[in-house]
Amino acid sequence: MRTLLATIVLLANCEGAPPPPREFDGAQALRYIETQLAFGPRIPGSPGHVRMAGWLDSLLRTRADTVVVQRWTHVTRAGDSLPMVNILARFKPTATSRVLFLAHWDTRPRADAPGSRDTTLPVPGANDGGSGVAILLGMADALKKLPPQTGVDLLFVDGEDYGSFDAGQDQDVLIGSRYYAANLPPGERPRYAVLFDMVGDRDLRIPREGNSVTGAPDVVEMVWARAKQIGHGDIFVAADFGPTMDDHVPLQQVGIRAIDLIDLDFGPENSWHHSPDDTIDKVSQASLQAVGDVAMALVRTTKA
Ligand SMILES: [Zn+2]
Repeated sequence: MRTLLATIVLLANCEGAPPPPREFDGAQALRYIETQLAFGPRIPGSPGHVRMAGWLDSLLRTRADTVVVQRWTHVTRAGDSLPMVNILARFKPTATSRVLFLAHWDTRPRADAPGSRDTTLPVPGANDGGSGVAILLGMADALKKLPPQTGVDLLFVDGEDYGSFDAGQDQDVLIGSRYYAANLPPGERPRYAVLFDMVGDRDLRIPREGNSVTGAPDVVEMVWARAKQIGHGDIFVAADFGPTMDDHVPLQQVGIRAIDLIDLDFGPENSWHHSPDDTIDKVSQASLQAVGDVAMALVRTTKA
C-alpha cells in the first residue's frame, strides 16, 4: 500500500506544477451562515444584532492584526435611534499597498419585496447578509493561516438594508458604508474594493453590475479575468446588469474604486429576495467556494 501511494505521489509530481492550493474553506463558509441564522434576524437594535456584533468582534480579533470598531447612532426617517456597528479587520495595517473587501452584516427588518409571501416577517438573510459575511470570514481564516503580501481590509458594514431604497426616501439604507466613507481609517486608500452581496445563491450567476462598470471598469475587468482564469467563468458571466444602489456607491463617491459582486436573480422571479424564503437551503457550499476562491486569488495576485 505504501509503495503504491509513493508511486502515485511520484506520478502526480511528474505531471508538472501542483494545482493551486484551495485555501478558502467553502464548508466552513456555509457553517458561518448557519451560525448567523442561529442568532435570529440581525436587525439594528435587536438582540440578534447585539449577539452577531459580539461574535464578529471576538472571531476577528483572533484572526486579524487589528480590529477597528466604529459605533454611532443613526436616527431614522421615522425618528428612531438605531445603534450601528461597523467592524474593520485589518491585515498588515501599515502596508501602503492595500485592498478592501466588504459586505453588510445586518438583515432587513421586513420581508417587503413585492413577491414575498408574508411581508410581516423579517428576512432570515442566509443569502442577503449571511453570504457576504461568510466570504469575509472565510478570507480571514485563510489570511490568518498565510498572511498576505499586500495589506487587506475586511469591512463588515451595518445598516445596508434597514429602510426604503426609493430615491428621496433612502436615508435608512447603506448607513454603514456611508458612515465608513465619511470616516475612513488612517493610512493608505485601497487600490480597489470588492463588495460581496447575495453571493451564496445555489444557482449563482454574477453579471457585471452597472455602477461597477461605470465607476471602476478596470477593476471589473480584472476580477472577471481572474475568475475565468481559475475556472469560474460560468459564474462570473459576460453579461451586464443594471446599476444597483449598494454599499460600493458611497465608497465610489469618496474616490475608492469599488465594485459590487451581486446576483439579484434569487429564486423564481427573484421571489426569495427580501422574503421569508431567504433561508439556508437556498444557498450552497459550491457557490461560496467559487466566490471565496476568486477573492483569495485576488488577494494573492495583488502587488505588494
Ligand atoms: Zn437586501
